[in-house]
Amino acid sequence: MRDSRAPHPSRASGLPLAQLGEAGLIATLLDAQPPPSGGLGIGDDAALIPLPEARLVTSVDALVEDVHFRRNTCSAEDLGWKALAVNLSDLAAMGARPTAALLVLSLPSALPAAWVNDFHRGFLALAQAHGVWLAGGDTTGSPGPIMVSVTVFGVPGAQLLRRDQAKPGDQLFLTGVPGRSAAGFQLLERPQDHQTLPDAWQDSLRQAHLRPVPQIAAGLALAAGGARVALLDDSDGLACSLQHLAAASQVAVILEESALPACPARDAVARTRGVAPLEGMLNGGEDYHLVGCCAPDDRACIEAALRESGTPSFWVGEVVSPERGVTSGAWLRGLNGALHRLDGPMGYRHFGEG
Ligand code: ADP
Ligand code: MG
Repeated sequence: MRDSRAPHPSRASGLPLAQLGEAGLIATLLDAQPPPSGGLGIGDDAALIPLPEARLVTSVDALVEDVHFRRNTCSAEDLGWKALAVNLSDLAAMGARPTAALLVLSLPSALPAAWVNDFHRGFLALAQAHGVWLAGGDTTGSPGPIMVSVTVFGVPGAQLLRRDQAKPGDQLFLTGVPGRSAAGFQLLERPQDHQTLPDAWQDSLRQAHLRPVPQIAAGLALAAGGARVALLDDSDGLACSLQHLAAASQVAVILEESALPACPARDAVARTRGVAPLEGMLNGGEDYHLVGCCAPDDRACIEAALRESGTPSFWVGEVVSPERGVTSGAWLRGLNGALHRLDGPMGYRHFGEG
């Protein structure tokens, strides 16, 4: 039986978009998801999103071909998944429950309509998994690259988890192994360099890059626990997240190199490239895990809440009061005990700025 959520194959065939047209493309979405009770979805001038309460958490992200993805290494289905995942990760990092999304597609007219069909399949698979309703969007042509922008809406959990809540004495945690997405990206970019890596390792690293899993359940569990938690996601890399955490909370954050979780597959990719595995862990980004801290007395309950939500926790450092020697910002304590300031890349430089 055909999945009733997927666009009907007769509506989105191998036709280029120039023939299918904007209305044809939108028609493929009309029966994608039924509106929630009391809602109005795709087809009118605007959507009506029913809300259980009058506070919305919202976030938007754009993905541009050859900036964020390449058509030859990221399938349309993977891109659909990832476009939603990167936004859901932002809601997870606020401790919010996602409810609805808007989708903007800017597409070159020569693109086969099947590309859009596949994109929606990936998008809706993740949407369905988290009860997210695609309430509407916009579709335009593009003279060059594919551009995708997703806006998500959610309702706050028991408390909003902000990045400015870190306090000296807190312990620092991660909810996943950093650097795996960046290793997957290297495999996609230069497969010929990594042919001797076991297939299972290659698959799992590529999956980490192409199909990140937003940690919604973890964010909600942390919000529900009642303990003070400072939280953000690691979209631009761990070093960048720690800099944001330190700046927002006006503290010094110290990451312990010795506590960073091991991953033989990730480290093998780094060695083949001739770079230190630490580099990918600190600056790789796009893992879409959570980075946070809490008081030492709350560590056990935070750990338990994460475990119950099916999420691992790695305790990787501490927050200290800024002082001479360890000023406000992010620091790495290396294996030899020496402190290095993490003032490297603050995420991708979109405009090539210094
Ligand atoms: P308008 O001209 O009023 O902007 P559109 O023709 O752009 O209307 O859109 C018609 C309907 O289709 C609206 O409900 C809009 O939200 C929806 N829509 C358009 N493009 C998309 C898309 N890429 N994804 C989801 N919904 C879309
Ligand atoms: Mg429109």
